[in-house]
Amino acid sequence: METWQQQLSGSITKVDQLPFISRDPVYREKLQRVAEVFPIRINSYFASKIKSADDPLWRQVVPTEEELDDFLSTEEALESDPLKEERDMPVPELVHRYPDRVLLMINNHCPIICRFCTRKRKIGFPGLVTRETLSKGIEYIAQHPEVRDVIMSGGDPLLVPDRELERILTALREIKHLEIIRLGTRVPGTLPDRITPKLCEMLKKFHPLYANLHFNHPDEITPEVELACNRLADAGIPLGSQTVLLKGVNDSVDVMRELMHKLLKMRVKPYYIYQADMTMGTDHFRTTVETGLNILKALMGHTSGMGVPYYVIDTPGGGGKVRLLPDTIVRHSEEEVVVTNFEGKTYRYPQPSARSRKQEALADTAEVSAEQNLCGSSADSEQETFSDALRNC
Ligand code: SF4
Repeated sequence: METWQQQLSGSITKVDQLPFISRDPVYREKLQRVAEVFPIRINSYFASKIKSADDPLWRQVVPTEEELDDFLSTEEALESDPLKEERDMPVPELVHRYPDRVLLMINNHCPIICRFCTRKRKIGFPGLVTRETLSKGIEYIAQHPEVRDVIMSGGDPLLVPDRELERILTALREIKHLEIIRLGTRVPGTLPDRITPKLCEMLKKFHPLYANLHFNHPDEITPEVELACNRLADAGIPLGSQTVLLKGVNDSVDVMRELMHKLLKMRVKPYYIYQADMTMGTDHFRTTVETGLNILKALMGHTSGMGVPYYVIDTPGGGGKVRLLPDTIVRHSEEEVVVTNFEGKTYRYPQPSARSRKQEALADTAEVSAEQNLCGSSADSEQETFSDALRNC
């Protein structure tokens, strides 16, 4: 057995094994009820990095009574599938929501089970993803030439043994119209010994291959994790990060800034901060949207643009991701745009003169109409063109 397999098989899965919890039998009984609904998994590597109760790693993986509160609440529409993924599954365990890409689940196990997981309904329950669902998923992609990008995610694709993973990647690479393969994984940050030189040698045969790595707190970045990320980067795999904004874990500017800086240092480009989804059993992790906007505002300008991820809401009801930005335009007109910078100071940017805009419009008539069509605009006056351009910025 390899080290990572031993760490997985040594996972904490029962209430009595949980670190730093009260001995009170009533409390333990409550946690037992939670664990019957949402399973527990903390692999032995990750468990070894937890320093105390309530530390940011502990909070992400140790169940609390609050997880069952949502079942009793009548206030909010918390759901087991808030993103309506099941609705957008043409075949089991494949989500086709956006026109040119799909999400394929090749596994429904993870190196840890995150208490805030948006797929709490699936992760850790045996028998959901099978050889049959997998081959139906691959067949679906092969039959849909519009699909040029697949992300394998949630459960973790890197928990699949090398040989099986290679078989799946080979089958995907045989699909001529499939350009990009992405891995959505929490393995490098929570089970880093899994990123072996042998795995990386195998993965690099399937380029263009990208990986989105899930990190939520700077304490997750250990020497073992740095080694794992370096191995993936050295295999030519572009690395991006995904972070979920979590109350009590990373809802502060200092924590997020440190995380983004540490990610960049190991060649992981901060890609997304997600507003926590409205998933049943996770309400206690949700922050306000203002918290996220304030963090983003504090990052913008105070650290390099490379360290500023997109802040997004994955819209409840299955509308897809929407980017959120702090307001930077104070006002705009045909004459000028007034913006505010990262220090809150305002600056004026004069627009080109009316004459210059008219000349530009005349010279580019053909091009402008093409762009308007692309943007779905039918504006035919200079005024409308200007307003549309601002709206679409
Ligand atoms: S690693 Fe991702 S899919 Fe797995 S339990 Fe955590 S949040 Fe859910």
